Amino acid sequence: MTPPILYIVIPCYNEQAVLPMTAPLFRQKVLDLAGAGKVSADSRVLFVNDGSKDDTWSIIRSLAASDPVYEGVCLSRNQGHQNALLAGLMTARSRADITISIDCDGQDDINAMDKMVDEYLAGMDVVYGVRSKRETDTWFKRTTAQGFYKVMSALGADTVYNHADYRLLSRRALDGLAQFREVNLFLRGLVPLVGFRSSSVYYERHERLAGESHYPLKKMLSFAFDGITSLSVKPIRLITALGFLISLCSFIGIVWVLLTKLFGAAVSGWASMTCAIFFMGGVQLLCLGVIGEYIGKIYNETKARPRFIISETTFADGPAPVDHAQER
Ligand code: UDP
Ligand code: MG
Repeated sequence: MTPPILYIVIPCYNEQAVLPMTAPLFRQKVLDLAGAGKVSADSRVLFVNDGSKDDTWSIIRSLAASDPVYEGVCLSRNQGHQNALLAGLMTARSRADITISIDCDGQDDINAMDKMVDEYLAGMDVVYGVRSKRETDTWFKRTTAQGFYKVMSALGADTVYNHADYRLLSRRALDGLAQFREVNLFLRGLVPLVGFRSSSVYYERHERLAGESHYPLKKMLSFAFDGITSLSVKPIRLITALGFLISLCSFIGIVWVLLTKLFGAAVSGWASMTCAIFFMGGVQLLCLGVIGEYIGKIYNETKARPRFIISETTFADGPAPVDHAQER
């Protein structure tokens, strides 16, 4: 059996500080794996420039000029981590037998790739990189991130615990993923839905080598909310349940009011009235908000805008990668 062609897919957004440090590490990893005969010598490191405002793209271009192991695609604008990753995966789909996606900041241990490739060679189509501990993250990031996984699974969006976007996908799995046309992209929730045999590889997460995280709390919260509303309709069911519960309470309340009235102990009732009005107003707005969130998602899906547009590549051959969301 000829060894598989591996593409390491790396989304980069404003990473000029860290890219020159981590790119040689990725290159070395590909060379080592190829040297050990586990992957083909045609394996590559593919960077996706997600509309960076700094020198990231020129760094990628000069890397590609310096060594054929490096390749790059440039998106026409910033599309966000998930879309950039998808653009890279769809570019690699026609060229690679396996892809491993990873962040470019050196936080994820690249040595786990050896085990990932071993798992693939043992017959897995999807191999999740799972953080065994998060000691290098701040207490805050660790707790919020773990709370995120717990809330996600409680709300019915199944994700692999402590797995981010460091994973190996086979060509088959990529083809499967390409059939998911959703614009509200949440890859770590979609990959389990693609199916195939999967396994996990454990690694320790390090600190960012340089540069800053692009996921401050605000973005993390919106990412979590997107994840939940993209994968699960449970929140809407919760609203229905809440509606039932409140209706039941109100019914009991009405009976109580009538009884009090009948037996003559009616009080002026201002406090309970206002409380009820405020409470109902609040609950209704909250519920409308959640429903609105889903309508917003439907709105975006019906528009079926492209999830990424590639403006430039460092290679000339091969079919131009397209976004399959446009084909429906
Ligand atoms: N990233 C991207 N587009 C964005 C934001 C981030 O391609 O709009 C990339 C970024 O360059 C990095 C990865 O996504 O390679 C993860 O981002 P980051 O390390 O900032 O997130 P964290 O590890 O703090 O969750
Ligand atoms: Mg990071």
